[in-house]
Amino acid sequence: MKVLKFGGTSVGSAQRIKDVASLITSRGKNIIVLSAMSGTTNTLVEISDYLYKKNTDGAKETINTLEAKYNKTINELYASDEYKEKAQKEVKACFNYMRSFTKDIFTMFEEKEILAQGELMSTAMMNLYLQENGISSVLLPALDFMRTDKNAEPDTQYIKQKLSALLDKDPDADIYITQGYICRNAYGEVDNLQRGGSDYTASLIGCAINAEEVEIWTDIDGMHNNDPRFVEGTEPVSELHFEEAAELAYFGAKILHPTCVLPAKLNNIPVRLLNTMQPDAPGTLIYNTPASCQIKAVAAKDNITAIKIKSGRMLLAYGFLRKVFEIFETYQTPIDMIATSEVGVSVTIDDVRNLTPILDDLKKFGTVTVDNDMVIICVVGDLEWQNRGFEAKALDALKDIPVRMISYGGSNYNISFLVRKEDKVTALNLLSDKLFKNK
Ligand code: ADP
Ligand code: ASP
Ligand code: MG
Repeated sequence: MKVLKFGGTSVGSAQRIKDVASLITSRGKNIIVLSAMSGTTNTLVEISDYLYKKNTDGAKETINTLEAKYNKTINELYASDEYKEKAQKEVKACFNYMRSFTKDIFTMFEEKEILAQGELMSTAMMNLYLQENGISSVLLPALDFMRTDKNAEPDTQYIKQKLSALLDKDPDADIYITQGYICRNAYGEVDNLQRGGSDYTASLIGCAINAEEVEIWTDIDGMHNNDPRFVEGTEPVSELHFEEAAELAYFGAKILHPTCVLPAKLNNIPVRLLNTMQPDAPGTLIYNTPASCQIKAVAAKDNITAIKIKSGRMLLAYGFLRKVFEIFETYQTPIDMIATSEVGVSVTIDDVRNLTPILDDLKKFGTVTVDNDMVIICVVGDLEWQNRGFEAKALDALKDIPVRMISYGGSNYNISFLVRKEDKVTALNLLSDKLFKNK
C-alpha cells in the first residue's frame, strides 16, 4: 500500500476534487491524505484572529463568506440531491461549530479547533464524492490516531497501533481517506503539525504502515533546481538523496515541509513528488540515491537574523562556544548557520521571539552586532569534500554580491551563503545561470 497526499491546490475546487478522485481510484487501494481546500487554512487563521481581537462581527462575516464558497463547491461537485444534502450537513456542522466560538472566551485551544475544520471538510467532501460514484471509500479520522507526545513529537507507537486497528475494521475498503495536518496532543486536545504539515502526516502514516512509497501530489512537477517563484526556466530534479531533500526543504523549498523527510529517511521509504495537473510527469524521487557528485538545486530561506559575538579574550579559551550556545538553548532558539574565527563567532537564527534577552546575555561575553533582514541561500547536492570545484563554482556565481557568512562542511550536502534580503533574487538567478544553464 502507498500513501498519496494531495495539497490544497490539488483539491481547491469542485473540478480539482473530481480530477483527484479519478486519479486516486485508478491507482488502487491506498491511504489518501488531504489538505484543506486552498485558501481555507489562511481564512481560518483570519477568523481566529478576529476572535482573538473580540471582533465577532468580523469573524461571523468571514465564516459566512467561506461557507458560501463551500456551498457553491458542493453544488458543483455532486450529481444527486441526496449527496448534496449529505455534504451540506457535514459542512454546515463544521461552520456552526466555528460559530459557537464567537460566544465565549477564545484561546489557542479554540483556535486549534477552528484550524482543524479545513481538513475535516475537504476529506468529508472527497469521501462522499467517491461514495456517490460507487467507490467503497472509508474515512480514517486523523483525530483518532494521529497523536503527539509531551515533547510535541509524533507518538509513533500510538499512531501505528491505532491506525492499524482502524484499517483492520474496514479491510474491504477500496480507498482510505484521512486528514493531513491535524492531530491530538498528549492531553487529547485538538492540535496540528504546523502550517504545511500535511506532508508530515503523509510521511508518518507511510512509516506507520511501512508503505511501499509516499507520494506528495502538488501543483508542480517535482522539486525544481531553483525556486520557481523567483527564477525563470527552473527544471525538475529527477532524483534526490533524503539528505539533499531535507536540506532543500529546511532551507526554503516550499514544495516539501521540512519535517516530512526524517521519518521517511529513518524507515527508508521513498518519497515521490508529483504534479496533480500533469500526472504522467516523472516528478522527483527521494531515496537513498547512490553518489552523484552533482550540484542539484538551490533554495532560499527568508527572515534570517545574523548575530556576531566578538571577543578576543574568550575565544581561544575552551568553553566559549558552549557558553554562547547555552544562551540559545536557554531561550529555545535554534541556530541555522555558524561561522567562527579566532576573535569571533557569527550565528544565524530565524526565530527572533527571544532576541532581546539573547542579546542581553551574549553581551556578557563580547561585543555583539546584529544584521536583520538577511537570507540564507543554500546550494545543495552531493558535495563530498574530496570532489573539487563545487565551492569555487558557487562562490564565482556570487562574486558581485556582498556575502555576510559562508558555511560549508557541516554536511556533504550543502554550502550556505548569507546575503541581504535585497540581493536574494539576483543571487538565486546568478546561481541558476552558473550552475545549471549551459552545463
Ligand atoms: P501544497 O499546497 O500542494 O502543499 P505548496 O504550495 O506547499 O503545495 O508547495 C508547492 C509550491 O512550492 C510550488 O507551487 C512552488 O511555487 C513552490 N516551490 C518553492 N520552491 C520550489 C522548488 N524548489 N521546487 C518546486 N516547487 C517549489
Ligand atoms: N492546510 C494546512 C495549511 O494550509 C496544512 C497543509 O496544507 O499542509 O497549512
Ligand atoms: Mg505544502
